[in-house]
Amino acid sequence: MRVVMKFGGTSIGNGSNFGHVAKIINSYAESHETIVLVSAMAGVTDQLIDCAERSQKDITKEVLRDFIQELLKKHLKAAEESIDDEFILKEVEQKLTETLEELERVLIGISLLKELSSQAKDKVMSFGERLSTPILWGAVKNLNIPVVYLTGYEAGIVTDERFGNARPIWNISIEKIQKTLVPLLEQRYTIIISGFIAGTEDGLITTLGRGGTDFSAAIIGTSIEADEIIFWKETTGVLTTDPNLEPNAQTIPSLSYAEAMELAYFGAKILHPKCLQPVMERENILVRVKNTFKPDAEGSIIVPATEQVENVAKAVSVLFNAGIIEVGGAEMIGTPGIAAHIFGAFEKADANVIMISQSSSEANISVVVNRSDIRKTEKVLKETFAYTNYIKYVRSEDDICVIGVVGEGLKGTPGVAAKVFQAVAQKGVNVRMIAQGSSELNISFVVKEKDGGLAVRALHEAFELGEKIIK
Ligand code: ASP
Ligand code: MG
Repeated sequence: MRVVMKFGGTSIGNGSNFGHVAKIINSYAESHETIVLVSAMAGVTDQLIDCAERSQKDITKEVLRDFIQELLKKHLKAAEESIDDEFILKEVEQKLTETLEELERVLIGISLLKELSSQAKDKVMSFGERLSTPILWGAVKNLNIPVVYLTGYEAGIVTDERFGNARPIWNISIEKIQKTLVPLLEQRYTIIISGFIAGTEDGLITTLGRGGTDFSAAIIGTSIEADEIIFWKETTGVLTTDPNLEPNAQTIPSLSYAEAMELAYFGAKILHPKCLQPVMERENILVRVKNTFKPDAEGSIIVPATEQVENVAKAVSVLFNAGIIEVGGAEMIGTPGIAAHIFGAFEKADANVIMISQSSSEANISVVVNRSDIRKTEKVLKETFAYTNYIKYVRSEDDICVIGVVGEGLKGTPGVAAKVFQAVAQKGVNVRMIAQGSSELNISFVVKEKDGGLAVRALHEAFELGEKIIK
């Protein structure tokens, strides 16, 4: 059996965690063909971005040096804590030192040029994974398992040149990945691969978007036709809601691909939204979400389809840090092409559209975007429509959140919407905007941010998600 698994930054937060993860890998490696994708240690990617941005402005050599030394210390400590074989430890230490020397040169380059292109930023961001991977390799080798490590690019992931958010060129990647990994698996090697990073056809380093190691696991898993992909997380599987908002949140034992996809889009932070699409297209890969710190717990499985259950909703998700942009004007009514025009402006502003609603009066369109995208999008919209009569106003609201109620059971079940809005109304929470995709897999609506937790708890209770064991 062929298994691909992914460990995120929190799973390898420190040295003893590397050792723990290595033991989990060991428990599979004996009886499975095992490939592991690993993220940077928690917080490192953010630190790298921060330092790259400071290098572009004003940074002294000393400050840069200190930053490199801190990173070296952190990673050496993790290596020492998880590898006791002297020779393996030496090899890892040398790799860490060399890699950080390279990072220092890159950062000095940025500080001299005072320029941080997206290409250079990707290069800097890649170091997080390039540092964590050899440590995990060492920790696994320390357990006497035949193991090799590769970067995402070396493993065969080739992308376009959209730095910061690159997309795989599938046909090239699949071929390369198979060519690289299958012979290693046949020689019984366990393979550790840096997540998040890949490369262009010319070998320039790219990254797959923040949190992209999930996506790396999906790319590798589908390309080598894995039987199973396991996402090791800090929670036991996919939960009915965010346990920080509702302590009574439960693990959902089984979800469909479509349900998991809806939840991923809704920022459930369980799986990266992009990672399910390639898996869905295969239809024969079992996806598991398990807890690194409770490896014996079942977690959740994600399968092509689950039975519809009378439970109706499976999860309530909430997306914070969002805002609404409302575009309106009477002239919009009955004008073909106006929506295309409006959304063209969102594209130009490079703002991701999260949710859309247009009333049938057609006099306005409301769009939810990430809060950080509001200002620039408003500006582009105003510029775009400055000399036309169609749009009379562009307004925004930045203190809102999006709540989503998700489940296959919502499909064709009358009364769900009534139940949702009644539960929310009973708590005195005002609903600002509503949307339901025609898949009927979710009902989403917008409330003020301060009401988010209250609305989530009301829905969790109304759909009895805390008590029932959901199928
Ligand atoms: N290290 C990268 C990030 O923090 C990728 C990942 O964690 O999956 O975004
Ligand atoms: Mg991370």
